[in-house]
Amino acid sequence: MQLLDGRALSGQLQQKLARVTETLKQQDKPLPHLVAILVGNDAASHTYVRSKIKACERVGIRSTLIRLEENVSEFSLTDTISRLNADPSVHGILLQLPLPPHLPADVLTHHIAPEKDVDGFHFINAGKMLKGLPCPLPATPYGILLLLEHYRIETSGKHCVIVGRSDIVGRPLSVLLSRNHYPGNCTVTLCHSKSENLSDHCRSADLLIAAIGKPNFIQASMVKPGATVIDVGINRIADSSHPGSFRLVGDVDFNAVAPICSHITPVPGGVGPMTIAALLLNTFYVAGYPQ
Ligand code: NDP
Repeated sequence: MQLLDGRALSGQLQQKLARVTETLKQQDKPLPHLVAILVGNDAASHTYVRSKIKACERVGIRSTLIRLEENVSEFSLTDTISRLNADPSVHGILLQLPLPPHLPADVLTHHIAPEKDVDGFHFINAGKMLKGLPCPLPATPYGILLLLEHYRIETSGKHCVIVGRSDIVGRPLSVLLSRNHYPGNCTVTLCHSKSENLSDHCRSADLLIAAIGKPNFIQASMVKPGATVIDVGINRIADSSHPGSFRLVGDVDFNAVAPICSHITPVPGGVGPMTIAALLLNTFYVAGYPQ
């Protein structure tokens, strides 16, 4: 079994981007500028946004964090996004999800100008992705493609089973991995909570991708020996060795599955850091510096 080390690859990509930043500085070109909007006090969202801002600092590009109160109105948030859309010094805008229940995430996400949509969530970019046109790709699926490419995992003709059909992970991945492209050319099965015979589907996968949000959901009995397993899940569970604290586990029972598969991503250290690297690549892309 080979570990797909997202942390190491993300580090390499960030070093490369830091060199690009140096070149931009020498050429007196504007540095990419990412603005992250964080609404409310969700602990996990704070952690994710902090790591995105830190990553911008590591590669030397500009970043701004706008923090808004939990009870901010839709009007006020829309206005904030409009101002950023109109500001030529801002290249990328990120609206950290989930939003508090009174705010319509879909409407607000689509209010971000598509050309500043570093998350690739805008329907214009989703449409471009579907048609194979250049656009920022959703960061987590993009990060997974980079990981598959780096480790030269064969995908052509393989059966890829994705568990989870969210707009940000499973569904875009199903589009990307079925493209006539590398990584891609998979025969894709997209599963969800209504799928019958889920274990049978999973067991038939050469490439199994879990994006469910349920700790240790994928058991060894659901994995074909020799399969490549990508674990997108980030679940906080109580840490029995440190009462009152938590630890992160994926959607895959790593200890049981690792011995039977050919490749697997750890949690943490797999898909998460690749999502950050992909976000940075998207920020360079929307700033006009495709890598
Ligand atoms: P969502 O909650 O939006 O989607 C979960 C999906 O899993 C849904 O399609 C749901 O089906 C499906 N599902 C839930 N229960 C079952 C079940 N028993 N059997 C089969 N399918 C099931 O989650 P996200 O896609 O946003 O995130 C998934 C996980 O990935 C989370 O742990 C999240 O924290 C993590 N994540 C990690 C990222 C990273 O960078 N590593 C980035 C984004 C997310 P249905 O549609 O029918 O409800």
